Amino acid sequence: MAEELHQMSVARLAQALRDKKVSALETAQHFLSRISANHQLAAFVALNEELTLDQARAADARLAAGSCSPLTGVPIAHKDIFVTQGFPTTAGSNMLAGYRSPFDATVVDRLAQQGTVTLGKLSCDEFAMGSANENVAVPALGHAAATPVRNPWDRERVAGGSSGGSAAAVAAQLTPVATGTDTGGSIRQPAAFCGITGIKPTYGRASRYGMIAYASSLDQAGPMARSAEDCALILSAMCGPDPDRDSTSLEVPDENFTLQLNQSLEGIRIGVPKEFFGEGLAADVRSAIEAALQAYQKLGAQLVPISLPRTELAIPVYYIIAPAEASSNLSRFDGVKFGHRADRYEDLLDMYKKSRAEGFGEEVKRRIMVGTYVLSHGYYDAYYLQAQKIRRMIAEDFQQAFKSCDVIAGPVAPTVAWKIGEKADDPLANYLADIFTLPASLAGLPGMSLPVGFGQGGMPVGMQLIGNYLQESRLLNMAHRFQQNSDFHLRQPGGF
Ligand code: GLN
Repeated sequence: MAEELHQMSVARLAQALRDKKVSALETAQHFLSRISANHQLAAFVALNEELTLDQARAADARLAAGSCSPLTGVPIAHKDIFVTQGFPTTAGSNMLAGYRSPFDATVVDRLAQQGTVTLGKLSCDEFAMGSANENVAVPALGHAAATPVRNPWDRERVAGGSSGGSAAAVAAQLTPVATGTDTGGSIRQPAAFCGITGIKPTYGRASRYGMIAYASSLDQAGPMARSAEDCALILSAMCGPDPDRDSTSLEVPDENFTLQLNQSLEGIRIGVPKEFFGEGLAADVRSAIEAALQAYQKLGAQLVPISLPRTELAIPVYYIIAPAEASSNLSRFDGVKFGHRADRYEDLLDMYKKSRAEGFGEEVKRRIMVGTYVLSHGYYDAYYLQAQKIRRMIAEDFQQAFKSCDVIAGPVAPTVAWKIGEKADDPLANYLADIFTLPASLAGLPGMSLPVGFGQGGMPVGMQLIGNYLQESRLLNMAHRFQQNSDFHLRQPGGF
């Protein structure tokens, strides 16, 4: 039994736990030993084995008493952007080196209440700014210096970002499931690059309380797992109103996202935006996506050509709005209340300057500067205000499109995962690679990524499904139906 634990789906593992075929303690130990054996991926940045095993024992007690939920004893790992009691929280930044939160993020807390067992914290781009998990300042476990997360399918390639640690850990079966956050694609893109499944719910579905803020009007938490079914189970536990602690959390009741799986796709209209299939799309990605669209037709869906005319504008709009919000959010890291403080300084202003200069990495500083610039007097109208107007138009384009389709499908990213270092010195090249994920983020729509094939170098290709507001169930059902008729989500990288 023990050697198969890491291959089980969340549902099967939870069942095995309830049937007492395996204990939560054995399960946790099994995954902890896999994590320790695979530090070369640089996916984990923190463990607390004692705490993990305590949580597992508590889960076993619940299982023994029969007072369990569908997730009791299921191991999970959290992106290091969620604050967690008992583990350090760094957001991938030297600014927060050594920081320990006195409380758990709402999402972490909700999952813990369901009896999940936290294995550890996962590497991410610094303050979630990145598309390759190369912007890391914190050394991963087993590494002396900060290092990019490695893609389990090819360790010379990036895992995607900013939730690259989450994607790599799930793909290598070091955890059955992980949390991620998505501001402009950070769940969908690393999921695609690592051949796993991930969903970013509608903005406001999951509480942002305790999620270290990057761009507050965009940030959203979601699960990353091997299948849509597993994502549905975890998402159900993550989402729900949190009015006292996140004023943007939606007042919609908790939803069980597993109930709508297995619905027929007969007559479902899939909108195919022509802008997602232009020149920039690599041939290998295009052919995998086209094959998946054909598979959907065989399942009864209908393809409808649509247009999202402002797709290209999503890049400049996002890279104005996100840095603007980041420059404001990150002003709290000033060396006074928490975070890094410079050793030597002359006066208060000098302390701020030195602490921030030392604590933040290059990409974070770049964005603080861009954000400060676009918000400054004289440029606010020219950049920030214009970007907000176009953001609204992008959201309207989606509503126009949803008049003729039920769901939108296309690629997650223009290419498969690139080589580590290939774009590391070129911020623009990284930004451009976000083109297909940014529009749904700006509109606040739910989006997901599911593996639909392999491209250049044998690397996984992910398809993106975008739904209208609160249509997570539909997306999960669409992905689940595909996965019942294909095995891309079951294929594993070798060597783990
Ligand atoms: N790549 C995008 C950025 O760097 C998105 C990151 C994210 O979703 N957190 O901002």
